[in-house]
Amino acid sequence: MKRNPLMIGNMMSNGLILSDILEYAAVYHKNTEIVTLRVEGDIHRYTYADAAKRTKKLANALKDLGVQQGDRIGTLAWNTYRHYEAYYAISGLGAITHTINPRLFPEQIIYIVNHAQDQYIFVDKTFVPLLEAVQDKLTSVKGYILMIDKDQLPETKLKNAIYYEDLIDKQSDELQWPLLADDSATALCYTSGTTGNPKGVLYSHRSTILHAYASAQSEALNINSRSTILPVVPMFHVCAWGVPYSATLAGAKIIFPGAGMDGESLTKLIQTEKPDLLLGVPTIWLGLLTHLDKVNEKMDSVESVVIGGAAAPISMIQAFQEKHDAFVIHAWGMTEMSPLGTACTKTRAMDEMPLEDRYKKQLKQGRPVFGVQLKIVDDENKELPHDGAAFGRLLVKGPWVVDRYYLAEETALEDDGWFDTGDVATLDPDGYMQIVDRKKDVIKSGGEWISSIDLENVAVGHPDVQEACVIGVAHEKWDERPILLVIPKEGKTIDGDSILNFMTDKIAKWWMPDVVISVTELPHTATGKLLKRKLREEYKNYLLNLEKA
Ligand code: AMP
Repeated sequence: MKRNPLMIGNMMSNGLILSDILEYAAVYHKNTEIVTLRVEGDIHRYTYADAAKRTKKLANALKDLGVQQGDRIGTLAWNTYRHYEAYYAISGLGAITHTINPRLFPEQIIYIVNHAQDQYIFVDKTFVPLLEAVQDKLTSVKGYILMIDKDQLPETKLKNAIYYEDLIDKQSDELQWPLLADDSATALCYTSGTTGNPKGVLYSHRSTILHAYASAQSEALNINSRSTILPVVPMFHVCAWGVPYSATLAGAKIIFPGAGMDGESLTKLIQTEKPDLLLGVPTIWLGLLTHLDKVNEKMDSVESVVIGGAAAPISMIQAFQEKHDAFVIHAWGMTEMSPLGTACTKTRAMDEMPLEDRYKKQLKQGRPVFGVQLKIVDDENKELPHDGAAFGRLLVKGPWVVDRYYLAEETALEDDGWFDTGDVATLDPDGYMQIVDRKKDVIKSGGEWISSIDLENVAVGHPDVQEACVIGVAHEKWDERPILLVIPKEGKTIDGDSILNFMTDKIAKWWMPDVVISVTELPHTATGKLLKRKLREEYKNYLLNLEKA
């Protein structure tokens, strides 16, 4: 469409490109540290100025390897300074950082590497055996870059293996980054694909920087140059929720935990490096809180804990607050949204609420950050009221929301341009969104819906329960009824009646699970979510068989 020239603003249109973020931090936050608990076991620390220099060396090396703009370069790695350098070197050159989730099944890894046609793969020591086993099936890969000190892994069966430090050693630390158009692609992340093949989401420089601005602001994750951030969410899962970008843009100190995601390693790192902001999924925090209880230690430095990826239970929000003085920012998003959609930040109103009421508000995933629009609709696409009770399909729009999956011919959007998240949610009169369930996980009992998330939330509050999972299984009269699977805490045994009694005054009577089953483990997806599809398959006739018996 031809535009009236008088309508066009007269301001500069410098692109929003990623290389500028690191250049900025290297100048204006040059002494701010990036600390890594290395896969090698020791602590590595350097500054943004050092990181920028090594990133340029790496970019020069990639150019020498023949990497071209638009090429996909895989990374299969923990959160470390080398992974951070790879992010910026690859994307800064105009190539695409394809982060590979090592928790995917080998067949899925083969699928996504071939689908993306990765040219090289950066790999940590931990994941070398995984690649050695599948390398013959990776059709496009020309070589593997080992992100490990040479003396730690002197031999590998990987063909064309190159040691990272050898690669960058003789390179110049000077480089003029290309001036890319800001809609150029920067990173490629695949969804975990619980059904069918994983789908790729291809972010742009523009979407990544807008997302970084939005997530750094105080109404979201509140990241600034005084922050010390520990992103426990992996860089192989939606780019660690964009922290490598937002922290750099804000000049914040970063603590990378490497492979040390267990409670003991995290406790040690937190006590020595004193982060004030932690980010991760509930299972990680379960491990951390359990360990802190066991060793009877309190975290003194942590002010906020961002919990997303799955619902934060009230017992977790309470434990962080009451034992560690840390406020939980409950956040929601998805790979298709870069990922941030909503955040439940501390408001003036919350300051004045009794704690019990505040926790109830914190159970909600919060309000959208500016840029993201939300609506809930029924099956006929009719918009539902914001009354905190009506729930329906959650649809989103925004400049960092996917439009089309990687290499897909068709848009991923509905006819009216909204993206269906696959989640079911409520919106309350204050604009707070609460996830009821994934659409496919909602339990339909006698025509009414039961939220499996709500039941799990309550069950994990019982003192003997480590982890809880609720699924709907076939029932003769009600079509589906909820059953509760629980892992007991160390040294405890599960008494089903005690758990159901505990839940009695916290949920509607007809929501009560029909049985409680004690299990030793629960299956999870590559991104740490409960793999309910598998459990539904396994337990589908459980209640029918009980009735027969
Ligand atoms: P992923 O793309 O792997 O990050 O998964 C995104 C999905 O995780 C969302 O669509 C939700 O179903 C779920 N999710 C993310 N954050 C939350 C949260 N705070 N509470 C409940 N579910 C969440």
